[in-house]
Amino acid sequence: MTVVVAALLGSAYALGRSLVPDQVPGLSTGATTGADGPHYADQPSGGEPSGTPSASTGPAETGQDGSAPNTGTDNLFGAHATSGSPRLALTFDDGPDPRYTPQVLALLREYDVHATFCVVGENAQNHPDLIQAIVNEGHTLCNHSWHHDVGLGARSADAIRSDLLRTNAAIRAAVPNAPIVWYRQPGGAWTYPVVSVARQLGMTSLHWSVDPSDWELPGAGKITATVLTQAEPGSVVLLHDAGGNRQGTVDALRRILPDLTARFELEALPTDPT
Ligand SMILES: [Zn+2]
Repeated sequence: MTVVVAALLGSAYALGRSLVPDQVPGLSTGATTGADGPHYADQPSGGEPSGTPSASTGPAETGQDGSAPNTGTDNLFGAHATSGSPRLALTFDDGPDPRYTPQVLALLREYDVHATFCVVGENAQNHPDLIQAIVNEGHTLCNHSWHHDVGLGARSADAIRSDLLRTNAAIRAAVPNAPIVWYRQPGGAWTYPVVSVARQLGMTSLHWSVDPSDWELPGAGKITATVLTQAEPGSVVLLHDAGGNRQGTVDALRRILPDLTARFELEALPTDPT
């Protein structure tokens, strides 16, 4: 069933995915079961985003980021897919998570790398200490919605605004005055309204350009290989430090960092985007 659906989706979105030729939808397993803790893949999307190609075939993906059909630039509604500079940006989604975020922070510290954390509001509320650690160690923040609502973009502007403001408030309850100038729509399910509301609230929408689909648990080897093969100047790399078992991502990061830091300058996405 999952494979059939994935194959159909792969066909349906082949055109939209043409800018990411290295992705192979048929290999999608949807294997996100067995994880403990917050598990956004199982959560209902709350409706399909309107005005996207996915509307005719139902929810296009499981609720995690990445492997979404909306990876063609025509579906980004202006969201940035690159860092805007020659520097490479690592991004970590869905946290913070007390099991994995500290491991990610320790590895980044070891390699003197700064990154950007796209945090979920309810997780920020539950783990303010981790929000503080992220900021104190020089990383930057990105709003990733209150409850990882993949369908948020289809809601009213007021509902979108309320969700994003609630998330920012949870972050700032942990770190008053924390700069939050980026927004990443869960699942990459961008719509014009969600990009527009984010902008009204001072946040630039952030997509990605390198997606190893780590949430599908392909193993540290495949995650590493995808990132190291596809990384180039300006890449925004999508990884997850929460939302399921992320040990594979942590193990991959241990292999990725020495290579990337030798080849690129890495940066936390700036808090003063132009
Ligand atoms: Zn996410």
